[in-house]
Amino acid sequence: MANMSMTKNPMPEQEPLVRNKNFDEVALGYTAETAIDEAKRCLNCKQHPCVSGCPVNVRIPEFLAKVAQGEFEEAYQIVTSTNSLPAVCGRVCPQENQCEGKCVRGIKGEPVGVGRLERFVADWHAEHADPNAAVEKPVSNGHRIAVVGSGPAGLTCAGDLARMGYDVTVYELFHKAGGVLVYGIPEFRLPKDIVAREVASLEKMGVKVVTDAVIGRAISIDDLFAEGFEAVFIGSGAGLPQFLGIPGENLLGVYSANEFLTRINLMKAYRDDYDTPIKHHKRVAVVGGGNVAMDAARCAKRLGADEVYIVYRRSMDELPARREEVHHAMEEEVQFQLLTNPVRVVGDENGYVTGIECIRMELGEPDEKGRRRPVPVEGSNFVLEVDAMIDAIGTTPNPLLRMTTQGLEANRKGCLIADENGKTTREGVYAGGDAVTGAATVILAMGAGKTAAAAIDDYIRSK
Ligand code: FAD
Ligand code: SF4
Repeated sequence: MANMSMTKNPMPEQEPLVRNKNFDEVALGYTAETAIDEAKRCLNCKQHPCVSGCPVNVRIPEFLAKVAQGEFEEAYQIVTSTNSLPAVCGRVCPQENQCEGKCVRGIKGEPVGVGRLERFVADWHAEHADPNAAVEKPVSNGHRIAVVGSGPAGLTCAGDLARMGYDVTVYELFHKAGGVLVYGIPEFRLPKDIVAREVASLEKMGVKVVTDAVIGRAISIDDLFAEGFEAVFIGSGAGLPQFLGIPGENLLGVYSANEFLTRINLMKAYRDDYDTPIKHHKRVAVVGGGNVAMDAARCAKRLGADEVYIVYRRSMDELPARREEVHHAMEEEVQFQLLTNPVRVVGDENGYVTGIECIRMELGEPDEKGRRRPVPVEGSNFVLEVDAMIDAIGTTPNPLLRMTTQGLEANRKGCLIADENGKTTREGVYAGGDAVTGAATVILAMGAGKTAAAAIDDYIRSK
């Protein structure tokens, strides 16, 4: 029988004041009973608007119908026919703007919890499937493709090409594959064994993953072609941090969110069994309002800071982070200094941060994107006492590949130029994900990897 409840089944979570002291996952996942109950809220709409809201067109009502019948493995197979990373997407996709944003049940109540159910079927499969089950290796077509970067774009492209029979090698500059999924998004939102599982399943299919390999330094894109690769996909992300450019930003205790999060997530600085150094600051300001800022603030809290502030120059309405993450951060006692902008970092005689001088802002006329422009309020300066400041105001693509690859062009913002199929300005080189769009989302990177895999296949066939 259909479930006409107006609200989603709540997601069980760790208590806020317990979880803000550990790195275990915040959301605990639905039980089988809750999953069935939630799936029964789906109306199986004829037009299924939810599907058009999903960048990889997961057949949502079909998989929900299977969940409602308790046929979880069948549901998993439907999801994975178009989405190769459901355990990741179920956890981090901004569903409120995608499938759930279009769900008919959302008109007069809460939408169906599509993301939570996607996570449920992926976790159910991981728990119940035989990890040693033989994986059918596709028949090789003898063509070699190189993928630069092992984030969601690179992994998706590699997986799709391997399934078509290509011999794929992924090169990753870090010692672990996964891109932002391992070095940026914290363990408490996305456990790293989930990413490792996805990488292992690609390896079982025959994809080779070479870590500690910086393409553009020891090996160039030209070297890859000379070695016999017939096409290259670049999914190198947008990992170059931006800074505010204010006085005092070179003081000790100023970090980019990228460095802070990489030390914690990839290098496990929060664990006693790792040697990664990290300072346990007591009062931390994180500048920015996106998911990256929320992650950095919540990590700082977990490392033992007494006071953690989000400093953001616009108001709560413009805050770009997912609502769920903002809500979680607030529950965990992260404080919000909104309509506030840092103008100077203040330090002591030894060069350590002691505070940031800020100015209050008010919202003026809308800018070209329609967002109201923040305007400083004269004379409202004050000093926020902190011993660390983390810049989380955005990132751009690293210029290394475009500087070392002839014919590879980028736009003004440093993003690689590629057409709608991922074809770049250099013959045989395709690109997608954050390297092309600038910082975006996991699912858009995956979509770009998928599109480029199909285009690479066409390119090789046409040669
Ligand atoms: P990346 O994931 O950045 O992967 C690129 C990989 O390429 C990296 O591993 C990098 O080391 C490697 N690389 C770079 N240059 C080279 C080179 N020269 N040689 C070899 N390897 C190289 N999105 C969401 O949808 N939901 C979220 O909740 C969310 N939270 C986020 C939180 C944080 C902290 C951050 C930083 C991002 C978040 N995002 C989120 C954005 C999302 O993670 C990215 O849009 C997505 O990972 C982009 O995928 P990608 O494959 O293009 O690049
Ligand atoms: Fe089900 Fe919502 Fe999709 Fe309709 S829009 S089919 S209710 S998930």
